[in-house]
Amino acid sequence: MLGPLLMLALLVPARAVEAGVVEATAYYDSAIAAFNGRDYAAADALATKAVGEAPFLWEAWQMIAYARVAMDDLPGARKALIAASNINPNNPHLQQSLENLGSATVIAPAVEVRVRRVLTRAIIDVVNHSPDITFHGVISFPTMVNFTPDVSVPTPFTVLPSCTATVNTIRQADLYKHAMYEIASRAAMGDPRALPTPGFAYLFPWRHGKIHRVVQGYFGATTHLNKRALDFDLPEGSSVCAARAGIVIEVKDDSSRGGPARTFLGDANGITILHDDGTWAIYGHLQRHGARVKVCDQVAGGQVIGLSGHTGWATGPHLHFAVYQPTDQVEAGEDGDFGESIATEFLQPGGRTVAPREGWSYCAVHPGKRL
Ligand SMILES: [Zn+2]
Repeated sequence: MLGPLLMLALLVPARAVEAGVVEATAYYDSAIAAFNGRDYAAADALATKAVGEAPFLWEAWQMIAYARVAMDDLPGARKALIAASNINPNNPHLQQSLENLGSATVIAPAVEVRVRRVLTRAIIDVVNHSPDITFHGVISFPTMVNFTPDVSVPTPFTVLPSCTATVNTIRQADLYKHAMYEIASRAAMGDPRALPTPGFAYLFPWRHGKIHRVVQGYFGATTHLNKRALDFDLPEGSSVCAARAGIVIEVKDDSSRGGPARTFLGDANGITILHDDGTWAIYGHLQRHGARVKVCDQVAGGQVIGLSGHTGWATGPHLHFAVYQPTDQVEAGEDGDFGESIATEFLQPGGRTVAPREGWSYCAVHPGKRL
């Protein structure tokens, strides 16, 4: 933990005088002054001069680490801490600092937890690197000794695309006692406060004018026990069309395996498209190499996005379609899905919509086209 380390550095006087150490000590003292004056770039430069004169001065390496953490340069801080702990390998505080730096983990491809340390405070930020997707999640502290959080823990967060959210700040309670913490975090896609557009008219996800049957409906007895999902009887290789405009956020089409057992669950190819109201649609069981879009593509409703198949847990070729709304849930369900599946209605001739029913057949009607 950097808080007590800093105290240690300030309390430990400079070492015995040796060649070069007088200058090094002067640089180091100036580095401390610069750090306390919050001039972290100067602290880094002065402490770097100190280790130039006296490379064994581990306290100066440690000061470089503090300064770089304060400037958000975690890789640089890590290098300096490694140098310090190579010189002073039995120092438990240095080891703890290294572990704390390591805890700034990536929790989802686009979401990163960052810790900014300002003297005895640690400010916990969540950075969303995705330009398109909102993420939500929760930060917890499996270990927190001699720190007081500003906001109760575990702390939920929601972070918009390309944004950083400060989730919590923890403050060292007693400056002269050992203090440490560990951060754990979970994140999932979506903004749990988003509400689906009421009554949106989805398109049946195949070519305009073609008819297909719902072979398994919402809460169906085979594989939809707990969710609102639809299986349509698309033969292998049929064009799959986007049921609604959106941005492609996930594509998997490298699998050729499928069969009538749960063990094939992870083998399904699929495409996920995020809609502008925060819901997303899943198109499942696509053919190997059957995707016709890639991640980050913007697609229009009715656009061909792939070819159907029977990869994954499937008794035969079909298209699995489901729309999800984000929830507070951050752990994937047993089928690997997040959020809550919702019922959708589909466009029919004359602008009507229909709620699909198992066993019934429907004709896809795309906007601007006549039957
Ligand atoms: Zn299904």
